[in-house]
Amino acid sequence: MINYGTFFFTNIVSVTVFTACLCLLAWRNRGMSGLRWFAGGMIVGLVKLVLQGLEGIVPPILSDMVANELYMVSFVMQLLGLHWFVLRKPIRTRWPFVVLGIALVVYTILFLKDVPYSSNVINIPNILICGVSAWILFKNARGTFAAVARVTAIILSVDAVVMTFRAILTNLYYKQADLIHLADTDPKWVYSLVGMAFLATCMSMCMLWFLVTELSKELAEQARTDPLTGALNRRAMEDTALRETTRSICYGHLPCMIVLDIDDFKHINDTRGHAAGDTVLQALVHQIKPMMRANDVLARTGGEEFTILLPNTTASAGIVAAERVRQSVEALEVPFEDEPIRFTISAGVAQLDPAQGGWEGMMRRADAAMYEAKDCGRNTVRPKAVNGDFDGIKSLTTSIL
Ligand code: GH3
Ligand code: MG
Ligand code: MG
Repeated sequence: MINYGTFFFTNIVSVTVFTACLCLLAWRNRGMSGLRWFAGGMIVGLVKLVLQGLEGIVPPILSDMVANELYMVSFVMQLLGLHWFVLRKPIRTRWPFVVLGIALVVYTILFLKDVPYSSNVINIPNILICGVSAWILFKNARGTFAAVARVTAIILSVDAVVMTFRAILTNLYYKQADLIHLADTDPKWVYSLVGMAFLATCMSMCMLWFLVTELSKELAEQARTDPLTGALNRRAMEDTALRETTRSICYGHLPCMIVLDIDDFKHINDTRGHAAGDTVLQALVHQIKPMMRANDVLARTGGEEFTILLPNTTASAGIVAAERVRQSVEALEVPFEDEPIRFTISAGVAQLDPAQGGWEGMMRRADAAMYEAKDCGRNTVRPKAVNGDFDGIKSLTTSIL
């Protein structure tokens, strides 16, 4: 049978390596609160192992009581990390901390009073925390985190089962403190301990998996976003437009597109400087975003050119929306240095017409309409009607303008 001492030594070495790795990664990715909880939990777990290893050298209050208490704290920290990754919000209820506090107080009293079952009492909250963590993961396994959340939930569930098995075993045979050393030679006790260490290693791997998933999600978001304004970029707009076009043709609700361009933007850059131009671009997105519906999509598709995709929108409603944006921009004053900047936009609107080249055709027509608006003296909205039927929309624009 495996030697308990050798097992303990190799386990402590591997846990130290994993803890050091996670701490380094948490330090490098400081914005990721979940990873900080994971690293904290690993450190606490490692201290627990070291204290256990010092059994006989340090007083039992440290090698036994404090070690067991630290074990539970590490489970709670792990739960907080998992919660952050799958739910992305702080825990609002206080129950994990209340359970932790009560369990710590009860266990301390039992231990100090030398109650034989004390080491099992500490197992109950640990099993509960594992079960709750697994339940949270199963319930919220969605999107990019679906696979890692499910696998971690399975590991935690097995962990809870093994912990329960060991609690029963200890309860049946080793509940007296002076009998516990006999457990070192019981294969059921030792191999279930090895199983626990194996599951802990799997958990460390899952923590790294959570990190990798989070980083790849961030990368994918960066690849779709314009860093200056936070709006989507051209590629993301093209993907969205293609998806929306396919969907809208299926359901018969056609989308509309607004292409808008800042008037005389070069003049702003030339007279107020490039930083002023950048501030104007950011202010424009800041102004438009709250005016959009939840499903509308805004993208920066050129230097000072933006595109808004309005799903399930008639041409006339698209024109009304573009005109509302134009008016709000005209009234906007962008604070910059001593003198605020005022600017205007020209916009073109087109509705999807499957017979006229899908979303690319719609974008082309909205773009052409925007250039018409420029030709008409700027600071205006121009429609590009389907099948050359401008009349209805023209009268509508005239009434708006
Ligand atoms: P029009 O009314 O015809 O649209 O004239 P315009 O001056 O707005 O258009 P033009 O195409 O002549 O100039 C666009 C300028 O936008 C030129 C380019 O240097 C500037 N630009 C493009 N991207 C950025 C950016 O990210 N920041 C800043 N500050 N300027 C930019
Ligand atoms: Mg321009
Ligand atoms: Mg332009």
